[in-house]
Order: sequence, then C-alpha cells, then structure tokens
Amino acid sequence: MPNDSEGFEDIRSSVRALCAEFPGEYWRKLDAEKAYPSAFVDAMTAGGFLGVLIPEEYDGSGLGLAAATAILEEIHLNGCNAAACHAQMYTMGTVLRHGSDAQKSEYLPKIASGDLRLQAFGVTEPTSGTDATRIKTTALKDGDDYIVNGQKVWTSRVEHSDLMLLLARTSPREENDKRHEGMSVFLVDIREAVDNGLTIRPIPTMINHATTEVFFDDLRIPASSLIGEEGKGFKYILDGMNAERILIASECIGDARWFVEKASGYAKDRTVFGRAIGQNQGVQFPIAKAYAATEAADLMVKKAAHLFDAGEPSGAEANMAKMLAADASWQAADMCLQTHGGFGFAEEYDVERKFRETRLYQIAPISTNLILSYIAEHVLGLPRSY
Ligand SMILES: Cc1cc2nc3c(=O)[nH]c(=O)nc-3n(C[C@H](O)[C@H](O)[C@H](O)COP(=O)(O)OP(=O)(O)OC[C@H]3O[C@@H](n4cnc5c(N)ncnc54)[C@H](O)[C@@H]3O)c2cc1C
Repeated sequence: MPNDSEGFEDIRSSVRALCAEFPGEYWRKLDAEKAYPSAFVDAMTAGGFLGVLIPEEYDGSGLGLAAATAILEEIHLNGCNAAACHAQMYTMGTVLRHGSDAQKSEYLPKIASGDLRLQAFGVTEPTSGTDATRIKTTALKDGDDYIVNGQKVWTSRVEHSDLMLLLARTSPREENDKRHEGMSVFLVDIREAVDNGLTIRPIPTMINHATTEVFFDDLRIPASSLIGEEGKGFKYILDGMNAERILIASECIGDARWFVEKASGYAKDRTVFGRAIGQNQGVQFPIAKAYAATEAADLMVKKAAHLFDAGEPSGAEANMAKMLAADASWQAADMCLQTHGGFGFAEEYDVERKFRETRLYQIAPISTNLILSYIAEHVLGLPRSY
C-alpha cells in the first residue's frame, strides 16, 4: 500500500479513488433498504486499508494510527461511511497486544486478507450502560470450555462478522478487590455460535448501522478463545479505547469537512433575492465557524495520533480529540442542513443522511458527558463524580 511520511497523500488519493466508486446513490439505496455495504467493505479489504494497523509479519501494512486516521477521514470526507468496517482496526489491537503467539498467527493474517472478519465488539449491555464494570454476561469455566450466558446490546456488524470480541464476567464483581477485575475477553467464533447458544436480533435504528442485540444461552466456547489472562479483560479493552476514540474522531473530521464543502458549494450556487445566499453574512458565518472548529479539532486528532504512535500517554488527547471532532461534525451538520433550507431534508442531497449518521458520535462509542468527566477527573484532578 502506498505511503508517505507527511499527510499520507498517496493513501488518501487511493481511498478517494475507491470512494468515487461508491457515490451518494449507493449509500442512499442501502440506507433505504437498511442493507450492509458489502461491496464497499470488500473493496476496502482488497485495497489493504482495513489491515493498515496489522504488523507486516502478520501480512498487514504495519502502519501507525496516523495512517489509519487518514484512511477513515478520507472515507467520510468523500461521503462514504466507515462504520461498516472500522471496528476491525481497533478490535484487532486487543488480539495483537494481548493474544498468544498462536492466536496472533492463527487470526491476524486471515483478518488482514479479509478471509476472517473481526467486526463485532460486544461490550455494552442493556442494564449497565456506560458503567461497563456492571456487565452481567458471564463466562464460566467448564472443563476445556467456557459457558457464556447473558445479553449484549448495540453489538454492531455481528451479522457481517466471523469473530466477535466479547467482554464477560468470569468472576462476580463482589469477589474482586477492584470493580474492573474479574472480567475477561474472548474471541468468539460467530459462525459456530449462531444457533448453538447465540441468537442475534437486529435493532432498527435512525441510521443504517447493522446493529443488533445478542443473547447468549449456554453458549459453549473453547477455553482457547480466552485472550490474555482471565480476569484482566477490562484492562485490555481500556488499552484499545484511545485508538478507538482517535479513529472515530478522524471520521468526524471527515464528516465535518464534507458538510463544510457541501454547504459552501450550495451557498455559492443557490440564488434567492437575486443573489447567492452565500453572499449573506448570516449564511457565511456559520460555515466559517464550522470550518474553524473543524480545523481546530483536527489539530487535536493529529496530536493524539502522534502521541499514540510514539507510544506516549494519549488518554487526555484521545478523549479531547473525540469530543472536539464530534462537536465540530455535529455543528457542521446542523449548519449544512440550515444552509440547504428545505432541500436539506431531501434525501437526494445526502445531507439528511450524513446529518443522522454524524449525530451518533455524540453518544458512541462514548458519550460527551463521559469524556468531560474523564477530563475533569483525570486531567484536572477534580473529584470523581460517579
Ligand atoms: C448505533 C450504535 C452502535 C453501537 N455499537 C456498539 C458496538 O458495536 N459495541 C458495543 O459494545 N457498544 C456499541 N454501542 C453502544 C454505545 O457505546 C453506548 O450507547 C454508549 O457507550 C452510551 O451508553 P448507553 O447507551 O448505555 O448510555 P447510558 O450509559 O445509559 O447513558 C445515557 C445518557 O446519560 C449520560 N450519563 C450516564 N452516566 C453519566 C454520568 N455519570 N455523568 C453524566 N452523564 C451521564 C450519558 O452521557 C448519556 O447521554 C453502540 C451504540 C449505538 C447507538
């Protein structure tokens, strides 16, 4: 895969060329049918873009997070949506950092080639919400197996994935000194699990996200599915969260740039009262503000990715990047809809679809309030509020 050390222009132009094959009509049709963008995901896989973070020894490109952010930003900037396939980039990291040599050699090359899809990530549960230490799904050792019982919600892409990274309790919360201990991570083979204790139920949502709820009813999985040490799983998941936040932030930057470009173009073309609407400062200023907010947020995304790639602490920056970029994309979305007037509601402009899609990032994978709490507590030293 092409690369350069600066703005990854070679990678960006390859992604741009790929995205040109998947214009607005493609996404609109899928949106109407609530269908998964298989052709897009296949093309991304074939282009090697989803294996960008997998080391070369496991047949990936061995590039850093900054390169991955360039890919995701470019996808969104070109009107496409990486939500169908982005999870692989960060869930793979748990296997890479904490998996055994055998697990890494077994799975990573196949994930890089696309022979195996690792797109499903089962953490959130209906009753615990953001407080993941209160999950109720259990995995209890039984001979050479674990038996899984419980429920996850918002498990996205599970119907389009071969493997799921699953967080489950292997010992009760009360029996551990710390609330985050006693949880473990498993790599579950979905193909074997479906109809053998795993039931998947799609959740209809305001965006086309292939999200589901999943039920585990005495699902038997081999003990070899365990990643790393039993009881340490929550820490492994936390390890991957900075990467996840930075990657999602780059999608927001892409969305924000798409909205700013779309609004600027429309404001120049649309004539009302005998002049372009963009000649009115009431129309210009929100576009300029959204542009400035996007550029500022992008600096934080770049800083966070740089720290992450350098192996330095990046928690504060990753969280700030996610929040600022999600705010910038939402500000730009609202501005873009307003600039388009009534036509913003017409599906053919793609504005309403992108508007719905980018709204998600105020909530997932972590809500803005929880980021603010993180900054208050871990950066500013204020008392923990929850
Ligand atoms: C489309 C979609 C796809 C998703 N995909 C996945 C996936 O693939 N895998 C997965 O595991 N999860 C997934 N999620 C779940 C997502 O990560 C959660 O929705 C998110 O973390 C918020 O959790 P919650 O919905 O339980 O909200 P809750 O925790 O119930 O919070 C509700 C509201 O209360 C606020 N709140 C809660 N506690 C506090 C507090 N202490 N202080 C201030 N405010 C607070 C929150 O900010 C939020 O606004 C997805 C969600 C959606 C909508």
